[in-house]
Amino acid sequence: MARVRPTLHGYPRQGPHRELKKAVEGYWSGRLDAAALRETAAALRAAAREEMRRAGITEVPTGDFSLYDHVLDTAWAVGAIPERHRAAAGTDLDVYFAMARGTADVPPLEMTKWFDTNYHYLVPELGPDTVFAADSRKQDTEFREARAAGLDARPVLLGPVSFLLLAKPAPGAGADFVPLTLLDRLLPVYALLLADLRAAGAEWVQLDEPALVADQPASVLNAAARAYRELGARTDRPKLLVASYFDRLGDALPVLAKSPVEGLALDFTGPAAANLDALAALGGLPGKRLVAGVVDGRNIWAADLERALSTLATLLGLVDRLDVAPSCSLLHVPLDVTAERDLDPQVARWLAFARQKAEEVAVLARALSEGRDAVAPQLAANRAARAARAGSALTRDTAVRERCAAVTEADARRPQPYAQRAAAQRSRLALPPLPTTTIGSFPQTPELRRARADLRAGRVTADGYRERIAEEIREVIAFQEKTGLDVLVHGEPERDDMVAYFAERLDGYLATRHGWVQSYGTRYVRPPILAGDVSRRAPMTVEWTVFAQSLTRRPVKGMLTGPVTMLAWSFVRDDQPLAETARQVALALRDEVADLEAAGTAVVQVDEPALRELLPLRASGRDAYLTWATEAFRLATGGVRADTQIHTHMCYAEFGEILPAIEALDADVISLEAARSRMAVADELAAAGYPREAGPGVYDIHSPRVPSAGEMADLLRHALRAVPADRLWANPDCGLKTRRPEEAGRALENLVTAARRVRAELPPQADRGRG
Ligand code: GLN
Ligand code: ZN
Repeated sequence: MARVRPTLHGYPRQGPHRELKKAVEGYWSGRLDAAALRETAAALRAAAREEMRRAGITEVPTGDFSLYDHVLDTAWAVGAIPERHRAAAGTDLDVYFAMARGTADVPPLEMTKWFDTNYHYLVPELGPDTVFAADSRKQDTEFREARAAGLDARPVLLGPVSFLLLAKPAPGAGADFVPLTLLDRLLPVYALLLADLRAAGAEWVQLDEPALVADQPASVLNAAARAYRELGARTDRPKLLVASYFDRLGDALPVLAKSPVEGLALDFTGPAAANLDALAALGGLPGKRLVAGVVDGRNIWAADLERALSTLATLLGLVDRLDVAPSCSLLHVPLDVTAERDLDPQVARWLAFARQKAEEVAVLARALSEGRDAVAPQLAANRAARAARAGSALTRDTAVRERCAAVTEADARRPQPYAQRAAAQRSRLALPPLPTTTIGSFPQTPELRRARADLRAGRVTADGYRERIAEEIREVIAFQEKTGLDVLVHGEPERDDMVAYFAERLDGYLATRHGWVQSYGTRYVRPPILAGDVSRRAPMTVEWTVFAQSLTRRPVKGMLTGPVTMLAWSFVRDDQPLAETARQVALALRDEVADLEAAGTAVVQVDEPALRELLPLRASGRDAYLTWATEAFRLATGGVRADTQIHTHMCYAEFGEILPAIEALDADVISLEAARSRMAVADELAAAGYPREAGPGVYDIHSPRVPSAGEMADLLRHALRAVPADRLWANPDCGLKTRRPEEAGRALENLVTAARRVRAELPPQADRGRG
């Protein structure tokens, strides 16, 4: 029988009670010194190793731990440390955190999404002057720790090609600078890191190359071939395992298969399952080790062990040495289902968090090494849990299914053409040109957070809490009236989180108590779980919206989170297509929109900040995705009258690829992030012939800086060159939730001044445009 070993690509870093967050934040605030922080970190790594060992993992990953982010760690390991951060701080640790968070004087590295996950990494800054230098201390220490604990360990680091592809030109390098051109300079530094790890006793080192699962041009594939040919040619190196995940390798598979590396780790879940046929077509991986990712590392459902076994059986025929792993690092899932005491134990059996996934791969490896009989009870329990889930009333709601099946194309379309809607909305709303509005949330003050904590701890009654929310709304409305904004919001004080708020009010969603997942640095999120068919128990937002409207004669926007975002920031079902789940959520939102409209709301905003995020990594999947995603939005919003104005909002500046989809949403008004890119978005919209109203943001809410009225007026004038006056709105980039009240207050005053100033400059006919 084959000898198959279970292994992992990475484990959650935070500890069972987010001890890492507390320690790192404690260090930042001066409560903890560097030695104490390092001690906590080492203890967390020891605990994680112990958990992996107990689960049956016989080769553990090392170096995947991070005080902040693993891409930042890689930048550090190759010496890609910007001068401004070096100069800003004294100790290594402080330079590291300066790169992560900036200091009072210097901005941090930029942060962006790690592929299509909700993890954010720090973007390395590289330029023609970058001098790389190897620093293997972190990798070395963590590897030696694991060995000292008596474990077989495999250091894991981001590979050179992905590192360069994820980097951006350093300020001053020129926007045309291509970091990949530094490959020749970087490879010797990787070779040194590898040699150090070899000297420390590492037999294998894993280099992650997830960037190779996107559609890459020949230049990148050639770079990958060269990188692994050169690293492979070194003699003082460990065996190399090149890992990819999140999608199939495609054209990069033969490149890596031909390279002199000793092993590949491939994902065989979801769209990456195509790796199986590709591997067979290639004739397997003669002489190489394959680490097969057959357990979905980024979702929380118990694996289908039988199916995984049959994939593994096929693979056994294709390779000489096979090992089993989750598809990717377990960084993207919470730690342990057994911590969820509030979950129905029947439902808990359907789930697998990091610890359970480690156990699953161990069971699979045993089944192959010792025969199925050795794990018969585990296989039986897995089958039973999966059957129970499939047959549960919690997952299937006939009424929801029938309603979904009956949806017609007309349901997902506003009955009137845009011009007719625009005219009806103009006469109902009677807004000035360049109307001012905000994106929804107002600052979440310490008082609000305290009110929520008080409610949870029982220090305040539900009525007492509601009164605090009502008071906040009164203040927010009074402020907007005084400042002179045109379309008001209630400020979202009752919402802790724009997805969780709705998830808690929809059937079909589950919530966890300890299901924390790292979003970035010390920020963790607790994504809700889409477990069953979705329906609305009762109106979710009508009461507060109506209350806010009762306080003013100006229109108050209703605020909802769109179907795609409700999916993107949750764990999704794996037992039906995403499109189906999106449609269910859309129908629930459609009812909410109808109720808001019936209650007199003239403007409803449905936020879709995540539309761009769920875009498949490979172009081949994009059309299908954008079709169901935009249909879901239109299904949520398409049932309204002509004079009800639908807004949508998106963050993140890279819209280019999805402009046609933005248009396909058919929203009357869209607000977009634009301030940081100096209105590039407005130009893109104009170039694409965007036909409806738009508010490219003129206030960057990610910064504490308060822009002046003059500055925002300039941005509006710039936008006016792209969007005509009767279709342009004045608004911030995004919600004000994270800003301090004083900052947001002054910025909005300046925003209104700016809009008034630019309005006064408009030729008179622009005025007639609006009712
Ligand atoms: N309405 C939300 C808010 O203002 C939108 C947040 C977002 O786009 N991420 O906070
Ligand atoms: Zn936003």
